[in-house]
Amino acid sequence: MRSKIVAGNWKMNKNLEETTALLNELAGKLPDTSAEVIVAPTFVNLAEAVKTLGGSKVQVAAQNMHFEESGAFTGEIAPGMLRNIGVNTVILGHSERRAYFGETDDLLKKKVDTALAQGMRIIFCFGEELEDRKAGKHFELVESQLKNALFHLPASAWKHIVLAYEPVWAIGTGETASPEQAQEMHAFIRKTLESSYGSEIAQGVTILYGGSVKPGNASEIFSKPDVDGGLIGGASLKADDFIGIINGI
Ligand code: PGA
Repeated sequence: MRSKIVAGNWKMNKNLEETTALLNELAGKLPDTSAEVIVAPTFVNLAEAVKTLGGSKVQVAAQNMHFEESGAFTGEIAPGMLRNIGVNTVILGHSERRAYFGETDDLLKKKVDTALAQGMRIIFCFGEELEDRKAGKHFELVESQLKNALFHLPASAWKHIVLAYEPVWAIGTGETASPEQAQEMHAFIRKTLESSYGSEIAQGVTILYGGSVKPGNASEIFSKPDVDGGLIGGASLKADDFIGIINGI
């Protein structure tokens, strides 16, 4: 059975005090769930987040990392530094990184390789823009994003990878993909995985949906057979909303 995950991507929100306050509230109110719960605060607050969460079930992830292991890369963060403070999961390929920071499939492939070499787990994001969907190219686009950045990997790497399908038109817009649209794409992703890696790996990979998930729509989206949880932006910034979503799994 593949694991279910609810992950919160805090993006560039919450200062140190706000981070610890939200984490304490979250840890205190966390319902009993079989799903993994992950939060990704900003880099400067990661070490404190790990300390604050201590023995809690909530895990901490980073939102990004550099593709080199160390060196003269001013302003960047190496995966080994994340591991060193107890952060073992990293989000890669978020559409905001692709759109605003020019992250290409090629660059992401390098980041994926470095993250795996450093023993990290990856939440790999991808998804089509509205014009791709309108042009009927969303399956093709998603397939190429996956193949370009991930399909060079050996079968053994997939146990360290979580996929997050995030249609760009649904991120932060309030517009959610319908549960049927999410299921259709997730089934396609699993089929694409199966054709290159076989059914055991395809069935074992956790595939999250992201894009305007809220307490009110989470359980319907999560009820779809190929949707194994969510990557949550805006609604992860309030403990009660995030907990409402966790309760939907
Ligand atoms: P959203 O963001 O939930 O605010 O739409 C999702 C994401 O960017 O991961």
